[in-house]
Amino acid sequence: MNTEISIEFFPPQTPEGVEKLRSTRAELAKLNPLFFSVTYGAGGSTRERTFNVVKEIAAEGFDAAPHLSCIGSTRDSIREILGEYKAAGIKRIVALRGDLPSGMAETGEFRYANELVEFIRAETGDRFSIEVAAYPEWHPQARSPKDDLEAFVRKVKAGANSAITQYFFNADAYFHFVNEARTQGVTIPIVPGIMPIAGFTKLARFSDACGTDIPRWMRKKFESYGDDTDSIRAFGLDVVTELCERLLDGGAPGLHFYCMNQSALTTEICRRLSKR
Ligand code: FAD
Repeated sequence: MNTEISIEFFPPQTPEGVEKLRSTRAELAKLNPLFFSVTYGAGGSTRERTFNVVKEIAAEGFDAAPHLSCIGSTRDSIREILGEYKAAGIKRIVALRGDLPSGMAETGEFRYANELVEFIRAETGDRFSIEVAAYPEWHPQARSPKDDLEAFVRKVKAGANSAITQYFFNADAYFHFVNEARTQGVTIPIVPGIMPIAGFTKLARFSDACGTDIPRWMRKKFESYGDDTDSIRAFGLDVVTELCERLLDGGAPGLHFYCMNQSALTTEICRRLSKR
């Protein structure tokens, strides 16, 4: 496939999960991704586990991009993590604010992701390529679309090299967002985040929480399948592949897959895309 893709993992909690992720990664490596990224629990809850997976990916010869969220963190702790990544030869970081875990009262020394991007640049110059998050359907806490766009532009001006979007199912939202960003002078690539659909109940809950709209026609169809997982999987593959095709035809610079540590759906979507 000619399309440039990247793939996101979360750090497993158990040794079995770590082992399974190795085989998932071996499968997904066949897709020749530009990089594998690894999420980070806000407040540093996965610091060790994220670092371990990142180190493994790098040792396998792939470009590994750790996510790093700043909420609840001090400058010293972020400086220390950047030093560890530098020493491990990491060249790309996904810089985020994150969400404060429930029960954690301290917001720390950073309020928003643009401050983290500024800090990374001030501390490490051009050592890291920096990815930031973008929200075509707007971040759920944004005061207004205008405010959210301005927040995105601030992250870019602070030194981001590229952006990855929250997942969405409405291609028009992506194209509208990219146009708005371009009119604000943003020239960096804005790569759509793609969520392969493995099941509907969890997806619906997660989408509500992160502000992703599941269009009525899709929702109704998924609901009509009930427990018929084969039909859900088949319809999900069709819908997401068509979305990817529309995005790529409309000029999206690549695709970032939220693979949820599974290889089958991402592999199948890419197989279908390669036949275009
Ligand atoms: P920001 O860009 O700081 O924006 C957060 C909110 O604050 C927005 O509503 C914005 O409009 C608003 N805002 C920004 N600046 C200001 C200002 N000056 N005044 C007022 N409001 C402002 N979460 C994790 O915990 N770990 C991960 O690994 C992770 N990976 C992710 C990867 C991607 C590609 C994406 C899209 C999201 C990821 N998330 C992750 C979720 C993310 O942390 C949350 O969406 C979080 O709520 C916002 O992070 P951000 O970096 O987009 O924040």
